[in-house]
Amino acid sequence: MTEAAPDIRRPSYAPGARRDAILSPAYEQAAPVGAPRVGVLALQGDFREHRATFSRLGAATVEVRKPADLELVDGLAIPGGESTTIGKLMNHFDLIEPIKARHAAGMPVLGTCAGLITVARTIAEGDQPLLGLIDIVARRNAFGRQVHSFEVDLDVPAFGPPPLRAVFIRAPWIDAAGPRVEVLASYQGHGVAARQGHVLVTAFHPELTGDTRVHDAFLAMVRAASSTTEATGVGAGAPTEEVVS
Ligand code: GLN
Repeated sequence: MTEAAPDIRRPSYAPGARRDAILSPAYEQAAPVGAPRVGVLALQGDFREHRATFSRLGAATVEVRKPADLELVDGLAIPGGESTTIGKLMNHFDLIEPIKARHAAGMPVLGTCAGLITVARTIAEGDQPLLGLIDIVARRNAFGRQVHSFEVDLDVPAFGPPPLRAVFIRAPWIDAAGPRVEVLASYQGHGVAARQGHVLVTAFHPELTGDTRVHDAFLAMVRAASSTTEATGVGAGAPTEEVVS
């Protein structure tokens, strides 16, 4: 009888292990105990850059691809990429209702660029799956095509000086915002960063510059929401904000 071959597989190849660990390092292992756990929707787009930024700020990060992944996180970031693709994949992997439910229970959500579109109440043109977590109308590709991508030093009064370096890549803008939306920054007369309750959005890509103030602000929201939840144990941080439709 031949002896069983030794199992020379690396742990990441073990049955049941997540194969994506091969591509994306397990940042959560490096985070200190008690660090906020941020999920990054990892269906499409530049989720790795968001993970790297959160990780640099001391958060544990988890790539979210299926509903069960959401149970591991205290907040969710939706990256830039292609919002139609992200929407279709969210639909395909049955993520839309679970994300809405976590948001309704108080989980903070960050949406950048395509992520801003994904969390919008509606878009100015067309039809695609949206989460409707913030009362804004987003206009896709509003600043022009890929060749019209640009960087600018953006005044964000809530952050104080200096201005924030903002990278716009086929970016949307906010066409209209409901009364409970605080527009945090505008460019050429259009809202490009906003907050409503525990939802924060930017039309630009804060994960592509060294300036971490957007991620810092989001982590503060995540910490505030999880400390409320822990204090009451009943999923507090529940929204006082209703998205008007
Ligand atoms: N234009 C893309 C969209 O409509 C967004 C671009 C980006 O995320 N950089 O989804």
